Amino acid sequence: MIAPSAPLLSVVIPVYNEEDGLPALFARLYPALDAIGCGYEIIFTNDGSSDRSAAVLREQFQKRPDVTRVILFNGNFGQHMAIMAGFEHCRGARIVTLDADLQNPPEEISNLLAEMDKGHDYVGTIRRIRQDSAFRRYASRAMNKLRERITSIKMTDQGCMLRAYSRGIVDAINSTRDSSTYIPALAYSFARRPVEIEVAHEERFAGESKYSLYKLIQLNFDLMTGFSTAPLQVFSLVGIMIAILSIGFVVFLAIRRLVVGPEAEGLFTLFGIAFFLIGITLFGIGLLGEYIGRIYEQVRSRPRYMIEGILENPSQQKD
Ligand code: UDP
Ligand code: MG
Repeated sequence: MIAPSAPLLSVVIPVYNEEDGLPALFARLYPALDAIGCGYEIIFTNDGSSDRSAAVLREQFQKRPDVTRVILFNGNFGQHMAIMAGFEHCRGARIVTLDADLQNPPEEISNLLAEMDKGHDYVGTIRRIRQDSAFRRYASRAMNKLRERITSIKMTDQGCMLRAYSRGIVDAINSTRDSSTYIPALAYSFARRPVEIEVAHEERFAGESKYSLYKLIQLNFDLMTGFSTAPLQVFSLVGIMIAILSIGFVVFLAIRRLVVGPEAEGLFTLFGIAFFLIGITLFGIGLLGEYIGRIYEQVRSRPRYMIEGILENPSQQKD
């Protein structure tokens, strides 16, 4: 429910150890939103930063309490949970997500809103020239392709967080209980009229990327297994194919034994094949484990994040 006095636009920003970049973000974000001229609120979620980010956010809240709200997590729950918390507390009719590191220029927000004016409920983005390492660019292009094949989610550029969502989509996201999710993909699955536009992309203003290779792999795993059971099906298909091939192979060996006589040299080929099968089996078990782990997480239904406190004007409080 949106109150009559609610801001039209909510900007949700996850913050994790960004103390060096935050002042520059404030210096560009607030003027950019003021220039748009509609009512807005900015919701920062401090995702358990170990630097001074929380203090910097608190100062900023004191400077602009009319439009600033800060959610303080009491631990690090990840970028997507930070955005989730922002979604649950925001009140705008339109919601924009943004990274705190200034890689997504805040000036682009007005372009996203212009697309929503045309009736789109989801505005995705494609980074015009991506300012990341070559490895990150190639890896994410490959993951994009794979994801497009096995899920029904069509995103040219899955990595860019500068996106706009309608209230309906955010309400739908809020009603899901996914404990590990990828917000742009989840939002896309609820969208009726999605669109993608090109946006600029800049170098990180300060600090370094919070995503290690391991975290990136985990994120892509979330994306694949969270939105499709195709990985399981592919595995069964491969399993069936290998089974058929090995039956053929056994028949071949039996005939060969009758015609040519017993063979000993081929022993190592058999070893090779056995190891291959063991590999596949282990992979399968791992994949099953991944899904079962998710079921386990979901069944436990632990709180997805813990909020330590919220800084907001009494008049801003959500009822
Ligand atoms: N972030 C977060 N929690 C985390 C990791 C990242 O809230 O555990 C925030 C981070 O502060 C930034 C955004 O998520 O605003 C994107 O992170 P980053 O720029 O490190 O990712 P990259 O641009 O390298 O994909
Ligand atoms: Mg970044």
